[in-house]
Amino acid sequence: MTSDADCVFCRIVAGEIPAEVVRETERTLAFPDVSPQAPVHVLVISKDHRADLDAVVAADPELAGELLRECAAVADQLGVREGGYRVVTNIGAGGGQGVFHCHLHVLAGRQMSDALG
Ligand code: AMP
Repeated sequence: MTSDADCVFCRIVAGEIPAEVVRETERTLAFPDVSPQAPVHVLVISKDHRADLDAVVAADPELAGELLRECAAVADQLGVREGGYRVVTNIGAGGGQGVFHCHLHVLAGRQMSDALG
């Protein structure tokens, strides 16, 4: 498995930084965002250190599909799938990415605006 000792999400995967696990599969992990932007704000990450979703799609499209399935499973598990939820992934600094390890944000529990800015 690829890992980066300086990456905060790799350190969560390694158990060095605590996170409350919402869901886990062999290749993915889901845990609450430390700075929630909605009543439900969970991050679904690859356990492998990949820079972003673009890199996962290029290297391992099956994993990209699994990450999306896990977003739906998180929404289901937390009871927000029916009411609607948002999945966001930022790619690159210009896309607003701050942690350069592939992760998808699952947001729900409030009305999302239609603005994507
Ligand atoms: P992004 O801007 O898409 O890269 O989002 C990175 C997200 O990671 C932000 O929403 C942060 O609040 C979140 N984050 C950073 N460190 C942690 C941590 N230790 N546990 C949970 N979430 C974190």
